[in-house]
Amino acid sequence: MSYDQNNIFARILRHELPCINVYEDADTLAFMDIMPQAEGHALVITKEPAATLMEITPKGAAAVIRSTQIVARAVQTALGSQGIMIFQLNGSAAGQTVPHLHFHIIPRSGGDMLLKHAAEKADEKQLEALAIRIRNALADG
Ligand code: AMP
Repeated sequence: MSYDQNNIFARILRHELPCINVYEDADTLAFMDIMPQAEGHALVITKEPAATLMEITPKGAAAVIRSTQIVARAVQTALGSQGIMIFQLNGSAAGQTVPHLHFHIIPRSGGDMLLKHAAEKADEKQLEALAIRIRNALADG
């Protein structure tokens, strides 16, 4: 799959579009999903340009998994969820809507219902408040 330099996440990485950042290191960036499927839904993206998991280098793949683990721990602590769902879509046929490699981190607790994928924007202030809780959990290690 060819890489579209103007996809939304490439533009976030170039600071052309805003995001509610929770974590960043040399190879990855994590931020709140603006159309969350559950409270606390976060995304971890690679800085390396790659549309899908099949196109990333081994170094990029290792980095994004490592960051997903770090952010998932913080999301679970911050939200107090029983479980964490992690998923990653490759290609529009699989439901991928942003063609830049990313992992979804979604807190889950027994009996909860997932909202529809990429469907409804959440309130920005609520996302900011959740991001603060996740950043605090990251800072506490
Ligand atoms: P996918 O369909 O797996 O490519 O997931 C893309 C995700 O990005 C969806 O869950 C969207 O809600 C989310 N999304 C789209 N635009 C933005 C944005 N500007 N900031 C944060 N999340 C976004």
